[in-house]
Amino acid sequence: MYNVAFVEDSKCIAEKGCRLCIMYCPEADCIMMENNKAYVYVDRCKGCDLCKVVCSTHNAISMHPVDPTTGKILLDKKEGQAAGLGQAYAG
Ligand code: SF4
Ligand code: SF4
Repeated sequence: MYNVAFVEDSKCIAEKGCRLCIMYCPEADCIMMENNKAYVYVDRCKGCDLCKVVCSTHNAISMHPVDPTTGKILLDKKEGQAAGLGQAYAG
C-alpha cells in the first residue's frame, strides 16, 4: 500500500495563480491544471509529500492510500505509513 496526493478543489487557489505544488512536484506531468484547479494524476504520483508541504497554507492537498488491485485512490482512508519526508520538510 502506498499513498498518493489528492487536491481538494474547494481549498485550491490555483485560479488566483498559485502553482506551488506543480512547481515543486519532482515527477513530470504529475500535477496538472484541470478546470483552474491543480489535479494529481494518481499513476504518476510517488507519494513524496512535497506538494502537501508546500500547500500547507491552504491545506488543499492530503495523502491517501491507493488500492493495489484497482489502482484507485481510497479517499475515505487516511494515509498509512507516511514517507516522513514531508514531516521533515515541515520542521
Ligand atoms: S499549492 Fe495548493 S493552492 Fe496552490 S495550486 Fe497547488 S493545491 Fe492549489
Ligand atoms: S506527493 Fe510528490 S509526486 Fe505526488 S503529486 Fe505530490 S509532489 Fe508530486
